[in-house]
Amino acid sequence: MYIKCWGTRGSLPVATTHSRFLALFEDVANQARKMGFNTINDVSDALKAGKIFNPVAYGGNTSCTEVGHENVKCFVDMGSGFREAGTVAIQQGNKEFHIFVTHMHWDHIMGMPFFIPIHVKGHKLNIYHVHKNAPDAIKVNFNGINFPLTWDELGGEVKFHQLTLYKPVELGNLSITPFVLDHPGGSFGYRFDAAGKSFIVGVDGEYKRVTPKELGKDLAFYKNLDVLLFDAQYEMSELASRFDWGHCSPNIGVDLALREGIKHLIFTHHDPWSSEEKLRRMYANAVKYMNSQLGSYPEVWASQPQGPTLQMAYDGLTIEL
Ligand SMILES: [Zn+2]
Ligand SMILES: [Zn+2]
Repeated sequence: MYIKCWGTRGSLPVATTHSRFLALFEDVANQARKMGFNTINDVSDALKAGKIFNPVAYGGNTSCTEVGHENVKCFVDMGSGFREAGTVAIQQGNKEFHIFVTHMHWDHIMGMPFFIPIHVKGHKLNIYHVHKNAPDAIKVNFNGINFPLTWDELGGEVKFHQLTLYKPVELGNLSITPFVLDHPGGSFGYRFDAAGKSFIVGVDGEYKRVTPKELGKDLAFYKNLDVLLFDAQYEMSELASRFDWGHCSPNIGVDLALREGIKHLIFTHHDPWSSEEKLRRMYANAVKYMNSQLGSYPEVWASQPQGPTLQMAYDGLTIEL
């Protein structure tokens, strides 16, 4: 199984403006100087090798994650990152896609009109959803007012598939199961299982329920999990003032990963207001917090004594499982 993050911002895409680029450039220059790199070539080589910030920029597209196994290509959500995913899919000659929708907030469906295969005959999009009103909410994109083309004018074929909560869908050797996340209007996470490896897309989720008792039936999904893509839009200090907004913070994910033995925790759905500098700080704080708590779970981490691997998601991040 592989994972590719095409969109890791939450709420709204963020553009790399001139002033943002200058801020990044200055960050890199300062860091390179601190690390003793002096020439442009040295800095360039160090950047390519991931030695100076990795990544330098987290990206600006909203939620879209590709998950593939053997010849099955899936996506979770169709945020603005779905546009570039479609361009690559066309170049690769892919004809059929399986898209799992967590919920229909705008940042998760806005990329659909710009996914090229939807406009080209011979391509098929299977859209899987738990919300009963998903087809209507998604078709709003093509009402003839918000986008020039109407639903009936699309060249590709789109088929909706109503999912039953907790009931797996089998696509080839890949099994996908929806479960409940805490989010206004409802959002559903998806657990992917293939060849003994597992991955969860856990966005959008506030993780108000965290204890085993509170999680109830959803607890089982986090057990024996290899990788969790976790909604960490806000810093811990921001969370209280954003109660009920539907997003979470890195330390809550760390607690969950430590307790349940989740091997690799990736933070995503970055706030559009978060600068790269803030995202790096959030990551450093999460690592510090994890190391301070790791000693409380000796049995869970006996075979991986350094604890869960923590990582910030960025547009373009690819992981092989
Ligand atoms: Zn969102
Ligand atoms: Zn949402």
